[in-house]
Amino acid sequence: MHRRSRDGQSVSHSASSSVGPQPSRNEGLPLVPCPDCGVTVKKFTSRTDSNPNRLFYKCTNQHTRCSFWMWDNEYESYVTNANIVIPSLDCELLATLEAQLENLTDEFKKKSQYNEQQMEELSTQLENLTDEFKNKSQYNEQKMKELVASLDKMKLHNTISAIVIVTLLILVIALLLF
Ligand SMILES: [Zn+2]
Repeated sequence: MHRRSRDGQSVSHSASSSVGPQPSRNEGLPLVPCPDCGVTVKKFTSRTDSNPNRLFYKCTNQHTRCSFWMWDNEYESYVTNANIVIPSLDCELLATLEAQLENLTDEFKKKSQYNEQQMEELSTQLENLTDEFKNKSQYNEQKMKELVASLDKMKLHNTISAIVIVTLLILVIALLLF
């Protein structure tokens, strides 16, 4: 009786006695949703003395602190037998999208920081301009005062000149008449 055909190989019931971990195939196991909470599991490598460098798959749901995890061989049979249809493309696509999202988030953060810096620079420039303008206004005020003062002087000067000229004219007329 042929139950399953994988990679073109027919596996019969009688020949399926060799059950054991096959690390080379574990590398390509799809990351499926956790059966307890639905969050996609992730692959980890055990560093314990009893299971050095052994792969295991664990739910990463921090929100519910989900405790689901499986050793590589358990996970393999789970994925294989539970009839979970997760196209590997979807997982790859998801991973790519996640990476893109991360990049975009980083970029956005950088840009926000950049904008913040720009805003700070702009406000500093504006402050400097305001100071400069104030200084210039003061300078202009002083200049205006000086100008008004010199104008007054000139007026006074002109008045004196006019008086002198008028006096001279009167003198000339007086001399001509008498
Ligand atoms: Zn979970």
